[in-house]
Amino acid sequence: MAYEQEKQIAIAAVTQAALLCEAVRQGLVPQAIEKNDKSPVTIADYGAQAIVCKALATAFPADAVVGEEDTTDLRQPEAAPVLAAVTEQVQRLMPGTTDRDVLQSIDHGTGTVAPRYWTLDPIDGTKGFLRGDQYAIALALVEDGDLKVGVLGCPFLSFDGGETGLLLVAVRGEGTVMMPLSGGTPQPLTVAAADDRDHWRFVESVESGHGDQSQQSAIAQAVGITAPSMRMDSQAKYAAVAAGQAVLYLRLPSPKSPNYREKIWDHAAGVLVVEEAGGRVTDMHGKPLDFGSAARFPDNQGVVVSNGTIHDTVLAALGAGAPV
Ligand code: AMP
Ligand code: MG
Repeated sequence: MAYEQEKQIAIAAVTQAALLCEAVRQGLVPQAIEKNDKSPVTIADYGAQAIVCKALATAFPADAVVGEEDTTDLRQPEAAPVLAAVTEQVQRLMPGTTDRDVLQSIDHGTGTVAPRYWTLDPIDGTKGFLRGDQYAIALALVEDGDLKVGVLGCPFLSFDGGETGLLLVAVRGEGTVMMPLSGGTPQPLTVAAADDRDHWRFVESVESGHGDQSQQSAIAQAVGITAPSMRMDSQAKYAAVAAGQAVLYLRLPSPKSPNYREKIWDHAAGVLVVEEAGGRVTDMHGKPLDFGSAARFPDNQGVVVSNGTIHDTVLAALGAGAPV
């Protein structure tokens, strides 16, 4: 099977990172530190990036890793207690790890887009993580701009009263499967069918600043979705569409930041998970997301994720400039 080793390493790394994140979440109140861009980062973000990057550097030393975090703030003298806390968490899973190892592993994730690279969001939805809501560990392999492997660990996600803590895994051409993070048999996933009216719902971000909630509900209504949105943090939204729990995920540029460029690690794993479950992902103008250029999509605006069957109708509604 294609990409078997990559898939197995990615699953193991994301599962370990999810354990670390849950240990932090269930322990002390997660300590948030403000980054330069004012977004929050926690011990768990750093620890998860260290775990995943160590696994990738060991198994695939030649591969670049484009991750969300770097060590600039962590190397400041006043951050010494934070670094010690990160190292302590990593040591629980990888005994013998030192502060230096942690810094080196996190910095392994500061690579740039290359013909073959991985992209990692060690905690996607840090605000959700801090609130006790959804978050995800998102890892994907990209070759020549094409997504090949996508793994989403969602420690707080459950569907239909099933187990909490889900792992979604996709390989290009081989479909998407879902299994409990704690292990178990992988189940193939399929998006909701066109006539599945029970799941005729849409998902959007909890954070109003990460989208245009009024335009999102206008577009949903224009395509016949009358149920209120399900608001979720992180790429758990992609998981909801892939698992057939919703037919649409809309992420339209917020009026507060109309020129915002989306980051590749906020989408890569989720996109493949949805595509391989039979869905479709484009930007709001119908263009494919560009994973072959840079850490931020240079030329995409907004993101539309669907079960496929309603995609063109949604794009038409957007093109028609539906009322906002
Ligand atoms: P979500 O959990 O779907 O709200 O997305 C979380 C991600 O939103 C974070 O990882 C940020 O990279 C990203 N983000 C930050 N600011 C914006 C913005 N103005 N528009 C869209 N996404 C943003
Ligand atoms: Mg993120």
